[in-house]
Amino acid sequence: MKITAITAIPLSFRLPEGKTVTMGIGSTTKRDTIIVRVETSEGITGYGEAHPGRSPGAVVSLIHNTLAPMLIGMKATDCVGVWQRVHRMQLSSHGVGSGASLGLSGIDMALWDIRGKAANMPLYELLGGSKKRIPAYAGGISLGYQAKESLAEEAQSYISQGYKAVKLRLGDSARADIERVKHVRKVIGDEIDILTDANTAYTMDDARKVLPVLAEIQSGWLEEPFACNDFHSYREAAKITPLVPLAAGENHYGRFEFAQLLEAGAVQIWQPDLSKCGGITEGLRIAAMASAYRIPMNTHSSATGINHAATIHFAAAIENAGYFEACVSHFNPLRDMFGKVFEIGQDGCVEPLDKPGIGIDVDESLFEQYPLIDGPGYVVKF
Ligand SMILES: [Mg+2]
Repeated sequence: MKITAITAIPLSFRLPEGKTVTMGIGSTTKRDTIIVRVETSEGITGYGEAHPGRSPGAVVSLIHNTLAPMLIGMKATDCVGVWQRVHRMQLSSHGVGSGASLGLSGIDMALWDIRGKAANMPLYELLGGSKKRIPAYAGGISLGYQAKESLAEEAQSYISQGYKAVKLRLGDSARADIERVKHVRKVIGDEIDILTDANTAYTMDDARKVLPVLAEIQSGWLEEPFACNDFHSYREAAKITPLVPLAAGENHYGRFEFAQLLEAGAVQIWQPDLSKCGGITEGLRIAAMASAYRIPMNTHSSATGINHAATIHFAAAIENAGYFEACVSHFNPLRDMFGKVFEIGQDGCVEPLDKPGIGIDVDESLFEQYPLIDGPGYVVKF
C-alpha cells in the first residue's frame, strides 16, 4: 500500500465580535487548523491534523511543496520511515524549526489512521492500549482574563458538566492572577484540580510572586511560565517551591527538544501536542522517554476532533498518561464539525472511539464553510 497523494486543507473560523478570549499569548480572533488527507494505492484514505502555527498558509505550502514530494510512493504503513525521511531531508538541516514538524505531525497522524483502517482496529488497540477512562480537564481556549466573579462562574459551568479539573489562564499581572486563582479556589472548593497556564508571559519576578500562592491553593501545575527554550528560567523557577510542578511541551518539537527538557530537570509535566510534536510516531518516543523518569504526559490538544480523538487513543495506549485536555471553547465549530468525539462523564473522564483508525468519518463537503483566513490567530492583547 503506497502513498499516492498528500493534501493539506486549511480551515479558519473568525470568532464573533466581542467573543475574544485573552490569555498570555494574546487575544484570539479566529481558529485555524490544517486537515491533512493522505491517499493510498489501496483506496484507504487517512486524515490527520497539523497545527497551523501562526501562519496556516505557510504550513500548507510546506506540506504541498516540500514534504509531499519526498513521501509520495513510500509505503503508507512505514510511519517510522516517513518520519526518518522528513527528518533527514528537512528537519535536520535547512528545515529546523516548527513548520516542518507541524506538517509532519498531520501526515503521520493520517498514516496511523490508515494503519488502523487497514487493520480494522481502533487506534488505541493498534497502539497496544485498551479502552479505558481517561481523566480530562476543561481546557482549550477558555477561562481567559476576565472579572474574577465571571471566571469562577465559567469554571463552575464546566464542573457541572462533570469536569474535575479546570485550567485557568495566567500571565496577566501577578496581582490579577493571584486575585483570580484565590477567588476561584474559594468558590469551587477543594475537590477540583486547578491547573494554570501563563502561556509564556511570565518574568521570573512574576513567578516568584505567583508560585507560592499556587502552592497555597494546591494548583496541579503551572504551565509555560516562560518561552519554550528559556531553560535557565525554568530551572530557577523550579527552585521556588517543590509543591507546584512546572509543565511544558506544547511548544517543544520532537524527542530531541524533549530530551533538552529532561536535561534541564525543571519540567515535571510534559505536554506534547500530537499535531505539533512530530505526530503519533514521535509522541510514542517522547512518552517512552518520559516514562523512564515517571513524567506524566498531559498531552496538549488543538483545534479539531481529529486531534482530540487521536489524543484520547494515544492516552489509552501509554503507561504514563495524565489528563486529556478537553477543548471547552465556546466558539470552536472545527471541534464538532465531524460530530462529537468525546463526552465528559460524571467521573470527569472521556473514552476513546471504537471505529477503525482514529474513528472519525470526515465529511469534506463541510470544509467550504471554513475558508482559510491567513495570518496569526492571536493578536496583541486587547
Ligand atoms: Mg498551554
